Amino acid sequence: MNYGEMKKQCPNIRQNLADCNCSYTSCEKTGLCCRCVAYHRQNRELPACFFPDDVEKGWDRSFRNFIDTWKDKV
Ligand code: SF4
Repeated sequence: MNYGEMKKQCPNIRQNLADCNCSYTSCEKTGLCCRCVAYHRQNRELPACFFPDDVEKGWDRSFRNFIDTWKDKV
């Protein structure tokens, strides 16, 4: 099944898109959170929504950037 078909079948697609802060607008996985998590996990990264908007814009979704972003805020 391609991503377009998956989006048609996902019962959460509208809410997922409303909650998504990802600025990489050409991504075909946008709104398919399960595919987004799986993709970034295999690259040792986290999805955009784990980062504040100003950091997310840099598209560095690495574990290191996640730790650096939040280490003094939790
Ligand atoms: S976080 Fe990554 S996989 Fe998810 S929508 Fe953005 S670019 Fe696509």
